[in-house]
Amino acid sequence: MASGLLAGKVAFVTGAGSGIGRATCRILARDGAKVIAADRNLQAAQETAQQLGAERAAALEVDVSSASSVQSAVAAALAKFQQAPSIVVNSAGITRDGYMLKMPEHDYDDVYSVNLKGTFLVTQQFAKAMIEQRLSECSIVNLSSIVARLNNVGQANYAATKAGVISFTEVASKEFGKFGIRVNCILPGYIDTPMVAVVPEKIKQQVVQRCPLGRLGQPEEIAEVIAFLASQKSAYVNGAAIEVTGGLK
Ligand code: NAP
Repeated sequence: MASGLLAGKVAFVTGAGSGIGRATCRILARDGAKVIAADRNLQAAQETAQQLGAERAAALEVDVSSASSVQSAVAAALAKFQQAPSIVVNSAGITRDGYMLKMPEHDYDDVYSVNLKGTFLVTQQFAKAMIEQRLSECSIVNLSSIVARLNNVGQANYAATKAGVISFTEVASKEFGKFGIRVNCILPGYIDTPMVAVVPEKIKQQVVQRCPLGRLGQPEEIAEVIAFLASQKSAYVNGAAIEVTGGLK
């Protein structure tokens, strides 16, 4: 029997094949949870799960922007550890940056479909399962972004979806509180993951200069806050939007 703050819990993590999602799987497993690493890139999700071992982790393919894919993932997740997840982390996310006057409609739609609609579909379907299974002490953690507050040029699609995630989180926290499901979101600053690897070096240098801690964040530094929100250490934290940015404003 695993020990740790999250022992006996099953966690479902999207975007688990990379960056913050992968680090979250590692930290939640370290704290005793069994982890379902879900990503549209199955091979990447399998690599995450393999690093943790078959007893602690399993991989699943999911496209969070597709209702039918998310529905199948709920059934598959239940089957993996014969228990519905009581922890859900919505980390799947994409950027398609570009100036608004030149932004193709599909770049707006794609970012919306993954970041905001995907968060809705996963939250809705997994909350239903939590309620049906009468699970207690449940926690859903959504990934917003400090870009929801900075509103950078070239990120109309991304900023709008991440601001939407904050409002969505607050509504969900009000609707689900009575079922023992807490819903919170995190606003990471600039974190050293493949998503930020494509940001031009000049912009990254400017970010580092503006950040009081003078560096990018590490994915584990977000995952530790997610683990806090997943655990009963945060039992009275609900509907919160927590900035984890090294002080970047
Ligand atoms: P990442 O390294 O790019 O990882 C995101 C993962 O999500 C990738 O494996 C990606 O697969 C997967 N994914 C994309 N679309 C999906 C879909 N439709 N269904 C399932 N999985 C999908 O990004 P990250 O840096 O870890 O970011 C994680 C979350 O934190 C995102 O929501 C991001 O917006 C947010 N965030 C990140 C930062 C940062 O600085 N890194 C800052 C603020 C907020 P593909 O590789 O195939 O696309």
